[in-house]
Amino acid sequence: MSQDILQIAKSKDPYEREFHQAVGEVMESIRPVLDRNPQYRKAKILERLIEPDRVIMFRVPWMDDQGEIHVNRGFRIEMNNAIGPYKGGLRFHPSVNLGILKFLAFEQVFKNALTTLPMGGGKGGSDFDPKGKSDNEVMRFCQTFMCELFRHIGPDTDVPAGDIGVGAREIGYLFGMYKKLANEFTGVLTGKSLNWGGSLIRPEATGYGSVYFASEMMTTRNKSLDGKTCLVSGSGNVAQFTVDKLLDFKAKVVTLSDSSGYIYDEEGIDRKKIAYVKKLKNIRRGRIKEYVQEYPSAVYTAVDPSLSYNPLWNHKADCAFPSATQNEINEEDARNLIKNGVFAVSEGANMPTVPGGADIFRESGILYGPGKAANAGGVSVSGLEMTQNSMRISWTREEVDQRLKMIMHSIHRTCLEAAAEYGTPGNYVNGANIAGFVKVVESMIDQGLV
Ligand code: GLU
Repeated sequence: MSQDILQIAKSKDPYEREFHQAVGEVMESIRPVLDRNPQYRKAKILERLIEPDRVIMFRVPWMDDQGEIHVNRGFRIEMNNAIGPYKGGLRFHPSVNLGILKFLAFEQVFKNALTTLPMGGGKGGSDFDPKGKSDNEVMRFCQTFMCELFRHIGPDTDVPAGDIGVGAREIGYLFGMYKKLANEFTGVLTGKSLNWGGSLIRPEATGYGSVYFASEMMTTRNKSLDGKTCLVSGSGNVAQFTVDKLLDFKAKVVTLSDSSGYIYDEEGIDRKKIAYVKKLKNIRRGRIKEYVQEYPSAVYTAVDPSLSYNPLWNHKADCAFPSATQNEINEEDARNLIKNGVFAVSEGANMPTVPGGADIFRESGILYGPGKAANAGGVSVSGLEMTQNSMRISWTREEVDQRLKMIMHSIHRTCLEAAAEYGTPGNYVNGANIAGFVKVVESMIDQGLV
């Protein structure tokens, strides 16, 4: 039956490869839940879950600094609002298409259900590439994008945020245009700057959360992050704060990357070095290869597309924090990680491991925290930002961080409980899928056929 659903998804939208991958993974986990709950099949829950509530697709024309006109495509997938307003980020990246955003929106539904906060799932974005664009070009793009998006979103309807290519700068321009068009100042976006409604710890939240999750997993084996060598991919928001938190836990981080290549710093990336990376990436908007000019003890390796594996994952280490993008760890990478001694993987990115790689992690018995659970800290603090906006107050750093820690602790426990209940103790993939699924599905059934 669950196999049939994947076939339905494939035959309806044959080109949405990443969406099929995300659906396939959830279906695999929830088979025993369906067997125990025949009412789910009767209610055609799976058929309803794979069909977004709404897909919005629109033209985004904009003018560059030379006066030339460009046309990009804008999207918002409102996937499921059974437990709260649609919630999820916007991704601006040339690879963005409907299939990628549907996979992200689908994952978001289950991830948000795990956070303990009342948020449905959505995702959006554009194939616009902010890389190399001037601030004015990015502003004009964001304004035109919001000219269409604004009529579909609202603080109780759909609350977008950032994702790859959408950070504080983009959220600012998007919010400015929303406020002008809607003539209201409301918490319609999260990831806002502090001065105008943002939450403390929101920029840090995904990275911090992924490290808290890794620490929770390690505690189950009486281990800690103290003194462990860690591989981190990416160098954006998630990766930067993953490094910060790993340093708090006294771990040693030796890698960072971008789409062109990666750096390996045998001496470890310390506070000073990560502060340099933040300036390089967030202010100068430079590339990670510049790191080796500043710190010549590190080695830069360019991406070699002819290689069947990513050399970043082929260094001796204890833990891995994939924090770049989907499918960045293939089967060979997964085998290399295990061969090199990695015993804990916590996914800061969404679906960074191919299904065969995830199987290798599980079969080897290492601690493997899938993105849906491990990177849920970001959207969790977005939920806390919404709460603060509704209450018109701001919590302190300590208060938000404390809540984030509690949420990650609860997600970890929920995953373990659900995995054990369905006969696969310690399997965080099954645990996350099952717990998220049951909460959403029970809510859908309560609310009738809509
Ligand atoms: N884009 C992030 C995610 O994948 C955050 C979403 C949000 O804060 O709404 O979960």
